[in-house]
Amino acid sequence: MNDIAAQYQKFILRRPLMALIHTPAVVIHVTDYGESDKIVTFYTQKYGKTAAIAKGAKRSKKRFLNKLEYFSLLDIIADTARHSSLLRLDQAELIAPYPFLRKSIQYYNGAMLICELMRLGTRENDCDDKLYNLLVWSLSELNKGQSMSDIIIFFQLRMLKLMGYQLSLSCCTNCGIKISNVNTFSFSAVHNGLVCTRCIPVRGGQFSSLSMNTIKTLEMGQSLSLEKLSRLKFSQQSTREALTLLRNYIPYLLQRDVHSWKQLEQNFVD
Ligand SMILES: [Zn+2]
Repeated sequence: MNDIAAQYQKFILRRPLMALIHTPAVVIHVTDYGESDKIVTFYTQKYGKTAAIAKGAKRSKKRFLNKLEYFSLLDIIADTARHSSLLRLDQAELIAPYPFLRKSIQYYNGAMLICELMRLGTRENDCDDKLYNLLVWSLSELNKGQSMSDIIIFFQLRMLKLMGYQLSLSCCTNCGIKISNVNTFSFSAVHNGLVCTRCIPVRGGQFSSLSMNTIKTLEMGQSLSLEKLSRLKFSQQSTREALTLLRNYIPYLLQRDVHSWKQLEQNFVD
C-alpha cells in the first residue's frame, strides 16, 4: 500500500463517516471564509491536524465568542461530512485561553511560531499523542512566563525528534571523532549532525557553529522528560547558537519559509 493510501485508511479508521467527533483541540490557524464563516485549523488530541468550518462565526459573535483565537485550547464537537475533508464545527468550549500569550508581543510571536510549525510540519488526520502533549506543554509553559527562547527551542527540538529528525550530536558525521573540548564543531543541516572543524572543507555547505555547552544543553533538551525540561536553561550564547541552528535547519527540512521567524527575530534584536 502506498503512503497516501495508508494515510487515508488510517484516517477512515479513526474518523467514522457522518458522525460527530469530540476532542480537545488547539487552534493553530484561523482564516475568514466568505461573508460570515471562518475556517479553523486545529491540532486535536484524537485526530491530529483537522480543519473545520465555523458557520456564522464572523457574524454571530455569541456562539464562538473569544474561542476561535490562535493557541486557544478547546473542547470541540464537529460533524464529519461524507464528501469533504472539512468538518463543520458545532460546539467549542474553552479549556485554556492562555491569556498571557495575548498580552505580550514577544510571547505572542513565540506561540505563533509554534502554531505555524505544527501546521507546516504535520499531515491531516495523522494523530500523534506525544506531539499534542508537546504542543499543550509548550503553550502552557509560555503562558506561565517561562523563558520564551528556551521553550521555543525545546518545542522545536522535541518536534524534530518526534518527526524522526533527532539532532545527531555525539560525533562528527564525516570522520566520526567524538565531541570533546579539544575540537570545535558546527552543525550541518544537510548532514543532520555535527561536523568537526577539520572536516568542514570536505563537507561543504552551510554550518552553524556550536560551543560544547550548547551541544550538551541541546542533548539534554532532546532526552529529558517534559516534567524536567522546564528546569533546563540555556545560556545567552547557547540560546543564540541554538536559535540560529533551528532557524536554518527546520525551513531546510520543510523546504519552505517559516514566516513567523521574521516577527520573532524582532524580539532578539539587541
Ligand atoms: Zn570530522
